[in-house]
Amino acid sequence: MTTTLALANQKGGVAKTTSVATLGAALAEMGHSVLLVDLDPQACLTFSLGIDPEDLETSLHDVMVGGATAADVLVGTEDGPDLMPAAITLARVETEFAQVAGRERLVATVLDTLAAQGLDYDWVLLDCPPTLGVLTVAALTAADALVVPLQCETLAHRGVGQLLDTVHDVLEHTNPDLEVWGVLPTMFDGRTTHARTVLETIAETYDLDVVSPPIPKTIKFAEAPAGGRSILTTARTSKGANAYREVAQWLERRRVRR
Ligand code: ADP
Ligand code: MG
Repeated sequence: MTTTLALANQKGGVAKTTSVATLGAALAEMGHSVLLVDLDPQACLTFSLGIDPEDLETSLHDVMVGGATAADVLVGTEDGPDLMPAAITLARVETEFAQVAGRERLVATVLDTLAAQGLDYDWVLLDCPPTLGVLTVAALTAADALVVPLQCETLAHRGVGQLLDTVHDVLEHTNPDLEVWGVLPTMFDGRTTHARTVLETIAETYDLDVVSPPIPKTIKFAEAPAGGRSILTTARTSKGANAYREVAQWLERRRVRR
């Protein structure tokens, strides 16, 4: 049985992409089969896994418009997971599908065709773009669960309300089974009481669980993307790597409880 997890937050720079890449590597390290889907036209996930979108003949957008099969565009990565890569063409989706009925099933349909081709994964992680547009709604519609990466700063607050409004719409109209698993504190500086206060406020205000442990702020992440490997390899035993390993174990326990 596949569990599809969306990492979404319309704020950029909160470590959605880093979390997808690193949790994917950690789940693969635990022996799971993992697919990562790059739903951001900026293709940062694709880049960070060592693939230049310009070198690709086909990518996710081609599958969405029927120009390629899902299996055609899949690529393997050195970290272990398979990747459904993005290219800048994915940006067209927001206008091409803006008025198209059934657009909320764009991602679900792609995943269905993969399963129909016999490609089964234990985990599918969806890296959402920093918007609440067609692609994010389609991701939430395809997902079993949502985790919201959150940088614990004062302004984090407002965005969470808007995201949860979208989740509400999705629950009502397109995916009544979506589970909100919680917020994942990223770039966490536990030495400041400020970060802890923001986190507690958000968890209480919106009645959200907090995924544990928080991911510490560390320079190691900035160094990782160059080689196309996550920090599980480039800084194997760092605090950041181990925090992501623990969160991956948390995800696996959470999955079993479903
Ligand atoms: P998003 O996908 O939400 O836009 P990214 O994953 O691209 O965010 O991360 C934004 C930036 O923050 C990147 O440069 C990344 O290397 C850096 N970063 C991510 N996690 C951490 C961390 N725990 N500590 C320090 N920097 C981080
Ligand atoms: Mg990103």
